[in-house]
Amino acid sequence: MDIQRKVKYENELDTGFLQRVKQQSHCDEIERCIQCGTCSSSCPMSVYMDHPPRQIIGFIKNGFRDEALKSFTVWLCSSCYTCQVRCPSMIKITDVMYAVRREAIENKAYPRRFSIPVLDKEMTRLIARDGRNSEMRLILRLYLKSFKPLSLLKMTPLGWKLLKTGRMGLKRNRIKDRKQLRALVKAIKENGK
Ligand code: SF4
Ligand code: SF4
Repeated sequence: MDIQRKVKYENELDTGFLQRVKQQSHCDEIERCIQCGTCSSSCPMSVYMDHPPRQIIGFIKNGFRDEALKSFTVWLCSSCYTCQVRCPSMIKITDVMYAVRREAIENKAYPRRFSIPVLDKEMTRLIARDGRNSEMRLILRLYLKSFKPLSLLKMTPLGWKLLKTGRMGLKRNRIKDRKQLRALVKAIKENGK
């Protein structure tokens, strides 16, 4: 068993992480967190999270980038905004979660084999390329890229039912003017930098 050090020295902290998250989330109030825990106690998903929202804000505030990026928490957030409306320091916690997810995807630093980041990434890729989602393609990519082909076999009866009732199609959905879509995606990427 590997013994891992939990304490970090100052030179191991990412001092630019806070600024990047502030910029991406359009939230300048992160340093105003008083660690009251209102967000964690209000969060309907916190029982499933490895670090409650309060701790994620603490990681960001103090430069613990890897701990925040590798956490399951940001992927389990259901964007219900309860924490955000209740935070006494007006921190846009939900938007902060999105900013952390974005940095995790860009750096491939999300938890390995965890299906939610894979779903997020593959769906974004499909929509950016075709302008529409194609459920069958998305599901195949999700299970293969999260290394769960056997789980895909277990889903076959349900998939068959969905196909038979027309709730899911084999056809690839695409919009006609993909050239315009590509220009739009390019502009969004350029403006987002
Ligand atoms: S509710 Fe706001 S101030 Fe309280 S711990 Fe959460 S982020 Fe910090
Ligand atoms: S927005 Fe996310 S972190 Fe905040 S309460 Fe809802 S699920 Fe929890």
